[in-house]
Amino acid sequence: MITLYAATSNAGKLRDFAAAAGENDVNVLPLPNLEAIPPPPEDEPTFETNARAKAIYYSRFLLGEIVVADDSGIEVDALGGKPGVRSARYAADASFMTDSAGGTDQRNNLYLLARLTGIPTNRRSARYCCVLAVARDGKCLLTAEGTVEGEILTAPRGDGGFGYDPLFYLPELGRTMAEIDLATKLCLSHRGRALRALIAAMHSHLSISL
Ligand code: IMP
Repeated sequence: MITLYAATSNAGKLRDFAAAAGENDVNVLPLPNLEAIPPPPEDEPTFETNARAKAIYYSRFLLGEIVVADDSGIEVDALGGKPGVRSARYAADASFMTDSAGGTDQRNNLYLLARLTGIPTNRRSARYCCVLAVARDGKCLLTAEGTVEGEILTAPRGDGGFGYDPLFYLPELGRTMAEIDLATKLCLSHRGRALRALIAAMHSHLSISL
């Protein structure tokens, strides 16, 4: 059994990791004391370079153990791939409703809807991307990527998931990411796919040194 320490305090991501890990003979635990560690800048240009930088950074706080970090986000084709690596800070970057009530996810969703006003259904394609990186003692060992294709609705649906899930529609299921159960989400989500790819790569490339 491989134990990975996840460098995230995002409850949605931790829940996704834990569920996917349980099916794959991997134990994913939260990185101890994460709240006391100052976060790294996250100013890299791609999901992969951000995930690598985060994994390398946090692995220095738990020497000898394998730390996994992810960088993820949503790319909307009609917006030239934005918000991409800025997904978590999309509304804040634009100073959109910064003084209003509601959480970050709600503001990001409202801002995304505002940016897509007037864009017809057939031009609202988008994808979630996730890159996972594992590092030990300040060295990146592996990365893996997962994506899932969908469309951005004109109004939110469902109250599961987190982030952009109520707007992210999966045409083949006829539901948003916020309307499906966790097991289904992990089967097809960018994070589930990235985690399965990572675990497969770890089993084949790292078995000797684990
Ligand atoms: P970061 O990886 O911490 O930079 O944050 C990525 C951001 O992308 C999150 O805060 C969400 O806004 C969005 N995001 C990433 N993955 C998901 C997902 O599975 N569902 C909904 N939103 C997501």
